[in-house]
Amino acid sequence: AELLNPYGKVRWQDFDQDAYVGATVVRSGQDPYARNKFNQVESDKLRMDRSIPDTRHDQCQRKQWRIDLPATSVVITFHNEARSALLRTVVSVLKKSPSHLIKEIILVDDYSNDPDDGALLGKIEKVRVLRNDRREGLMRSRVRGADAAQAKVLTFLDSHCECNEHWLEPLLERVAEDKTRVVSPIIDVINMDNFQYVGASADLKGGFDWNLVFKWDYMTPEQRRARQGNPVAPIKTPMIAGGLFVMDKSYFEELGKYDMMMDVWGGENLEISFRVWQCGGSLEIIPCSRVGHVFRKQHPYTFPGGSGTVFASIQSRMELRKRLNCKPFKWYLENVYPELRVPDHQDIAFGALQQGTNCLDTLGHFADGVVGVYECHNAGGNQEWALTKDKSVKHMDLCLTVVDRAPGSLIKLQGCSENDSRQKWEQIESNSKLRHVGSNLCLDSRNAKNGGLTVEICNPSLSQQWKFTLNLQQ
Ligand code: UDP
Ligand code: MN
Repeated sequence: AELLNPYGKVRWQDFDQDAYVGATVVRSGQDPYARNKFNQVESDKLRMDRSIPDTRHDQCQRKQWRIDLPATSVVITFHNEARSALLRTVVSVLKKSPSHLIKEIILVDDYSNDPDDGALLGKIEKVRVLRNDRREGLMRSRVRGADAAQAKVLTFLDSHCECNEHWLEPLLERVAEDKTRVVSPIIDVINMDNFQYVGASADLKGGFDWNLVFKWDYMTPEQRRARQGNPVAPIKTPMIAGGLFVMDKSYFEELGKYDMMMDVWGGENLEISFRVWQCGGSLEIIPCSRVGHVFRKQHPYTFPGGSGTVFASIQSRMELRKRLNCKPFKWYLENVYPELRVPDHQDIAFGALQQGTNCLDTLGHFADGVVGVYECHNAGGNQEWALTKDKSVKHMDLCLTVVDRAPGSLIKLQGCSENDSRQKWEQIESNSKLRHVGSNLCLDSRNAKNGGLTVEICNPSLSQQWKFTLNLQQ
């Protein structure tokens, strides 16, 4: 139930941040990363209304927004968020938005250990606090917040964000003009170690790999060139990053909100992105809107029951897809995300071929060129490989070729030909190595810096460990 504050509301400027944040500081000797997987000591040092750099393009500074924009309900779900980060999120919304555009801020406390983390913030103007009486996960929590929202437009934020100058108007404008647009800001980076606010590139789109992990894709050179005339135009994106977006409330409902059988965290951004595009809407990144987010490498929270139990029946979602007359996934791949290489039925393994933080790379070479390694960039391109059923390791129509079957010989790229025994490879030792079938030698990076990759007598050394992003067959 909603927690009513007996003391009445205060302006955010009058909220006692020292008392609120001071109650949960990291004690000396404690690990500042333990609770949140970001540096809580650095977060706690900052004022709730600290200033951040205006990272927008110059052209945004002169922009005028429509004056008849609809107000929004901001929905922020959280589970055991650091108080300082949660408070800064709330304050930045209130400070950086025209007051008449914020109907309310709905905090959904997803059963955090300390109910006061949320309850105390209910004292701030416009803030409403809902608390789950058991852990629901972020999808059901967001839906709970959305259901309670009184405004026509929903704005979802994570609980560790900072909104930048005029972040809200350009988002609301796009949705007010067309309610089937689902829009995100450019997500700037709040450094998880020192909490510096750093502007992100404006040349990125959201995408995913075939492990269904979200990633940022650089626009192609043609796409970048096309934007030169209007660098602040909306960017159509195949995927949203996750928790930061604005969507018309009735459209959110029509499209089926979130899958209520999704638990804890993850995958919901892919699911909603596919659904929006396939069912008639679109996703955009709006460059004049900037919001910082603390990106971190690990989750601070548990997955009750284990992370393997978050999957459930999708029967009702398939019925929804039918009812809404959504286009097939194939349409999405061909029209919305044509840059994504799709593994075909000939592939056994696919994606980057990783060795630690390095990846097998063509180095831009073509036929008769050598191959090497380069730091993995997750952007496909020169690091995209497939192991096919006919045992070739392919990059486009070039294959890894063992020209000379002696240990220490350089591997070359050559045009693939079906029956060429110099091009036959297999994965061995639980898919951790690549062995050339004819010679029984293994792909090795030990000479990567002087010459290129070679084949060597198989041994346990790290220079022979290679792992595809995706193995389609065990
Ligand atoms: N969250 C939640 N319940 C959960 C897990 C996460 O309410 O069971 C919240 C979390 O506090 C955050 C948002 O959902 O505000 C997104 O989670 P997170 O920031 O960990 O995801 P990331 O940004 O790392 O993808
Ligand atoms: Mn987050």
